[in-house]
Amino acid sequence: MTPPEEEIAQIVQVLGTRLLRDESLANHTTYHVGGTAALYVELTSTESLELLAEALVDTTIPLLVVGNGSNLLVADSGFPGLVIHLSGIFGELRLSLHEGRLDVGGAVALPVIARRAVAGGFAGLEWMVGIPGSMGGAIAMNAGGHGASTEQNLHTARVLELRTGIQREYRVDELECAYRSTRITDDELVISAMLEANEARDRAHSRALLDEIVSWRRANQPGGRNCGSVFTNPVGDSAGRLIEAAGLKGYRVGGAEVSPKHANFIQSESGGTAADVAALIEIVRHRVFESSGVVLETELRMVGFPDA
Ligand SMILES: Cc1cc2nc3c(=O)[nH]c(=O)nc-3n(C[C@H](O)[C@H](O)[C@H](O)COP(=O)(O)OP(=O)(O)OC[C@H]3O[C@@H](n4cnc5c(N)ncnc54)[C@H](O)[C@@H]3O)c2cc1C
Repeated sequence: MTPPEEEIAQIVQVLGTRLLRDESLANHTTYHVGGTAALYVELTSTESLELLAEALVDTTIPLLVVGNGSNLLVADSGFPGLVIHLSGIFGELRLSLHEGRLDVGGAVALPVIARRAVAGGFAGLEWMVGIPGSMGGAIAMNAGGHGASTEQNLHTARVLELRTGIQREYRVDELECAYRSTRITDDELVISAMLEANEARDRAHSRALLDEIVSWRRANQPGGRNCGSVFTNPVGDSAGRLIEAAGLKGYRVGGAEVSPKHANFIQSESGGTAADVAALIEIVRHRVFESSGVVLETELRMVGFPDA
């Protein structure tokens, strides 16, 4: 569905040359597949936030915030709306050891937070080193791993309501955090966050923990083009175990393959398409249901597909 011409005209008029048309989203996701965004804007400053809000007043155009694109599968037909991406000042991070707080821009990558925290004398954020998302994406997804999740370290998140221009500061208990989900909607942009961590008693231990987590990831998860776990774990079980038990490790559709290393990862090869990955997701879901009776739910977010 193409956005109404008058809305595009309004957005173009306000955002001017900041706006790109037909920007490839394959270049903005870890899957490296999929089509283009009808409109794309990079926000780098407080001023650009204000302009965006002005551009979006009274519009209905579909919106998509893309962080590091590490949990997104974009359809080959692309996204028929406005994609918003943070960089510039939103990539900044400030540490305040005596308060036990980190003020983190929405674009800061989680491994950067983990390493800067350890270097600055904090403990408790080491788990973030293995997750290639941004702060904003981690809050929207309540990302987690190694026994921790974003909500455990989050104090507040500053959020811009994209269609009204209103900024709100949510306490973590107002975000309705659950397993890989929060109340953040497609019409909201996480601008920054305040994280809490402890003062490190033993920095050498924190550094060793970073190395251990990175080594564990390399040993147990594939590199290359993927989005991490495709499916959430059903209560009391693991999606990877169910997929492996269904005999699907190494199963292929076109340029997509269930990773032989970790069955809950689907790899996309160079030259593969989003349609290949989406078709394989459906086959896995179907075969796991046939073999175990469990309906797997996707953790990755599918963008631009008919039912998305
Ligand atoms: C190799 C690999 C390993 C992974 N391991 C893990 C893991 O252990 N645990 C885990 O939880 N995840 C894991 N992931 C998935 C992914 O890294 C996380 O879900 C991460 O939080 C996504 O962040 P992102 O910035 O890439 O978000 P994107 O993929 O860009 O977007 C994901 C969702 O967040 C929204 N979003 C992104 N930024 C913002 C923002 N600033 N404001 C509002 N909404 C926003 C998007 O609109 C979208 O709905 C892994 C991925 C890969 C590739």
